[in-house]
Amino acid sequence: MKLRIILAATASLVTLPALAAAAAPVNAAVHDSIRQAFCPQPKSEGTAPTPAPVAPPNAVEPARVFDNLYFVGDRSTSAWALTTSEGIILIDAGFHHNVEGTIIGGMRKLGLKPEDVKYVIVSHGHNDHFGGANLLQKTYKSRIVMSEADWEHMVTWPQRGSPAPFPDRDVVVKDGDVIRLGDQSVRMVVTPGHTPGTLSPIFEVRDGSRRHFVGYWGGDGAGHLDPAGLRTYAAAVDRFINLDPRVDVPLSNHVVADGALLKLPLLAARKAGEPHPFVTGNAEFRAWAGVLKSCAEAFLPAK
Ligand SMILES: [Zn+2]
Repeated sequence: MKLRIILAATASLVTLPALAAAAAPVNAAVHDSIRQAFCPQPKSEGTAPTPAPVAPPNAVEPARVFDNLYFVGDRSTSAWALTTSEGIILIDAGFHHNVEGTIIGGMRKLGLKPEDVKYVIVSHGHNDHFGGANLLQKTYKSRIVMSEADWEHMVTWPQRGSPAPFPDRDVVVKDGDVIRLGDQSVRMVVTPGHTPGTLSPIFEVRDGSRRHFVGYWGGDGAGHLDPAGLRTYAAAVDRFINLDPRVDVPLSNHVVADGALLKLPLLAARKAGEPHPFVTGNAEFRAWAGVLKSCAEAFLPAK
């Protein structure tokens, strides 16, 4: 939290070298955020329990992050709207209780029409990501995309917390498939681990005349897996980071994983010609995914 305030303050008086210098602590802060959220946490022994932090307001202001990519999420779960010449591809659908306010409301606030959502790519069959899909399918006739394994997983896994209505089974994709809409294509990568058929899409985004590629990791946590599942997760990370050397934007569906809350204020303060805070380069994308992998491996029993 302290670092976030410092970075936000720094961003308001940036020069180009200052912003570049700010990238290293931001990257380190994102790695720390992943470790806190997804690595095994040391158990405290014999000490008084730490008081629970006061929950912050859950809402996050929706934002245009790239020319063709918009953040519509909150502090618990993220969705991303990818605009094309023929409509919108929504990546993840949030909880069923925040789809109307956070996702649909956020899109309208940004000037996007939820009626234009042609596809909803659901990263995996947990209710914090498919939760809004039923409403989008019923209201806007959006096509719902999931892997074969996760269409099955969605209805067989004991969903925790907020129950959500399932979308009707619709588009089934496999590894290597491409979802095309207008001038945009999205490569489907199946990265099993977090769930049996987690989808981690790769797609192009634009920042003015510059082209970048997002590597969107679809399943952030691994603490619920058995050793075989943990190894599967780690292998999926290794494969994912080697698929496309153009990937230079790490994103995910939780702000604790992709650091969106750290980067959005920097983006808002960005001046013309300055680097884009969500563009890290391929080496940092690989390092970032490596932290997710190392958290999974840390749950493996000691030999
Ligand atoms: Zn999940």
